Amino acid sequence: MVFFWYFFSFLFGLCIGSFLNVVIHRLPMGQSLTDPPRSACPHCGEPLAARDNIPLVSFLCLRARCRHCHAPISWRYPIVELLGGVMGVACLIRFGPGGEAVVAFCLMAVLLAVSVIDIDHRIIPDRVILPATVVLYPAAVAFTPLTWRQGLAGTVTGAGILYSVALVYRLLTHREGMGLGDVKLMLLIGAVVGWQGAVFTLFAGALYGALGGLGAMARSGRGLKTAIPFGPFLSMGAMTYLLAGPEMILCYQRGIIPGIGG
Ligand SMILES: [Zn+2]
Repeated sequence: MVFFWYFFSFLFGLCIGSFLNVVIHRLPMGQSLTDPPRSACPHCGEPLAARDNIPLVSFLCLRARCRHCHAPISWRYPIVELLGGVMGVACLIRFGPGGEAVVAFCLMAVLLAVSVIDIDHRIIPDRVILPATVVLYPAAVAFTPLTWRQGLAGTVTGAGILYSVALVYRLLTHREGMGLGDVKLMLLIGAVVGWQGAVFTLFAGALYGALGGLGAMARSGRGLKTAIPFGPFLSMGAMTYLLAGPEMILCYQRGIIPGIGG
């Protein structure tokens, strides 16, 4: 029975991952998510038959090439699908079957889509963030231990701190360091994970961002002028909190994880 739940959540996650690919591809271009209903090859425009639209399986069967024009299919599609599946299983392991796992999975799915869109287009679309906040905030209050006050405190703390940092950076350097998109992203994250989660997300996101930034600088050779999107790192921070945050905070407080004051 337990195996069935894992299998089901993996398959469910794969399908959601497949839908996220549609969102990632169409939404930034202002296209409808449902019209046309079937995805098409970006190269030749041929609509995909049902058998070529099965998450992961089709990609492997077609050996990463379009059936019609044989153009290579991006590895991103199966990776996003696989991440969806892994996130489904991870939420189930973490929270057990129930509403809390579903809310956590939905937040992670939104963060995954937003991250890839941010990497591609350097935008965090309101059309995703605002509806997600309106739906997931009350859902988190209903199905997780979060109270509506904690959610509100999370939103104010997360977005407030990030906005202050962006403001100070702009005053000091007269340059735009961070977009308002990242602030809006923290509105969503804070509303679902509360203020502790929001602070954790900012710290973890900054740490991931610093590591990612060093990597990007080394690759581009442009030093501190290398621009990287911050949304994916904030998203990784929030996902870390969902899956292990409270335990990590506890370890930190007990001095097991070293740090300032640890
Ligand atoms: Zn094609």
